[in-house]
Amino acid sequence: MSKFSFDKITTHLITSGFVYPGSEIYGGLANSWDYGPLGTLAKNHLKEEWRKHFVRENHMIYEIEPAIIMNPKVWEATGHVANFHDPLVDCKYCHTRYRADTLIKDQKPDLNVDAMTIEDLNKEIESGDITCPSCGKSTFTPIRQFQMMFKTYIGVTEEKSSVCYLRPETAQGIFVNFKSVQRTTRAKLPFGVCDIGKAFRNEITPGNFTFRTREFEQMEIEFFFKPGEDMKWFEYWKDECRKFIDRIGIEDSHLRFRDHEPEELAFYSKGTTDIEYLFPFGWGELMGIASRTDYDLGRHQACSGEDLTYLDPETNEKYEPYCIEPSLGADRVALALLCDAYDEEKLVSENGKEDTRVVMHLHPALAPYKAAVLPLAKKLAPVAEPIYEELSKYFMVEYDAAGSIGKRYRREDEIGTPFSICVDFDTETDGCVTIRDRDTMEQVRIPVAEVKSYIEERLMF
Ligand code: ATP
Repeated sequence: MSKFSFDKITTHLITSGFVYPGSEIYGGLANSWDYGPLGTLAKNHLKEEWRKHFVRENHMIYEIEPAIIMNPKVWEATGHVANFHDPLVDCKYCHTRYRADTLIKDQKPDLNVDAMTIEDLNKEIESGDITCPSCGKSTFTPIRQFQMMFKTYIGVTEEKSSVCYLRPETAQGIFVNFKSVQRTTRAKLPFGVCDIGKAFRNEITPGNFTFRTREFEQMEIEFFFKPGEDMKWFEYWKDECRKFIDRIGIEDSHLRFRDHEPEELAFYSKGTTDIEYLFPFGWGELMGIASRTDYDLGRHQACSGEDLTYLDPETNEKYEPYCIEPSLGADRVALALLCDAYDEEKLVSENGKEDTRVVMHLHPALAPYKAAVLPLAKKLAPVAEPIYEELSKYFMVEYDAAGSIGKRYRREDEIGTPFSICVDFDTETDGCVTIRDRDTMEQVRIPVAEVKSYIEERLMF
């Protein structure tokens, strides 16, 4: 776990421009967050790395971008209309609202709440052992099931026939397009389809900053293969996800793989593994890898009447493909990276003065800006600006000419810029700049012509 408090880290993220409270000028909207310029860049870089790892370098995967609002029959077919509920209880005394399963889990960590039925959860709530964290009383309303899908209407009237939902996961946009992707790409099994996009859940207890929100971004893959190859591909995807998490540099000791107990699995599932991260507030899921058999394609085939089977060109067999689903929350992984990156270092200057520098040790590939061009004086603009213009063709680069160079270095450290390029009075004559490394604070002087490749080499994982 980071040695810094969550409060300290999130305060830094807000004040430096990674994340802003949502609708702030109207007093905010509880648990809604907007990404500022730095957070947007960092999250975009994360998505690009995901694309590189799972699409560009994995030749079996195709990316698509399905619509957020889908035919409501999709959610009837998947069971979301009937079953996508969270168990909700209210404290009868102070009226604070809780998700019953998390309330029980927090107070009885040895119970496997994910495997408990509503009756079991109700028994625990009624047992008198569970207390309200807010007022300490043990009297709760019976559990009510709370539909988590956001309902909306298509068209001008709010009639029952025009009801639709904001998607609670991106995955179903993949399943309904399975046949089209297979036909148009002429892909043979095994192959996968992925997408990156927003999902919406009316969470009862959002919180922990961007960890649990009502609107979030998922990066999901559905990987289809011949039935019977489940174990091989489940292991393959667990391994690939592990490699991705390692690639983006999440601290190994902050990670754990949690295999779901058989009682936790849906009846159709052959296995699920969650990758969890030790946030300053405790363990939280970053991603899940689920072996889902042919359940989803089977449900859509049954409910839509469309043939979603695959004709194996080698054996001439026709079957419904099985699938493995690696599903990752972009906001949670971004938050984990930012928690890992935050650091405070004690520095002692030459005259013995102590100081603290805040530094975000993000991997250069994920850092919002890759470099900052810092002219020693404003009048060096004619020398510095062409360097900035040239580098901007290849990377996100900042230009900052205001204030002392020491203060500018500190600001770049705080936002995680890995390379600060100082343009000084010799640059014009010797054609060189000084590059300061964010992590080591060491400086090297190199020709301007070599700066691009210097940065490029260090962006590689
Ligand atoms: P949790 O148990 O934490 O509610 P989940 O098991 O319901 O998560 P999935 O349905 O497996 O989550 O969704 C896949 C991924 O989407 C999760 O691993 C997580 O990273 C992300 N995710 C799910 N719900 C949220 C949310 N409310 N806010 C942010 N990210 C989320």
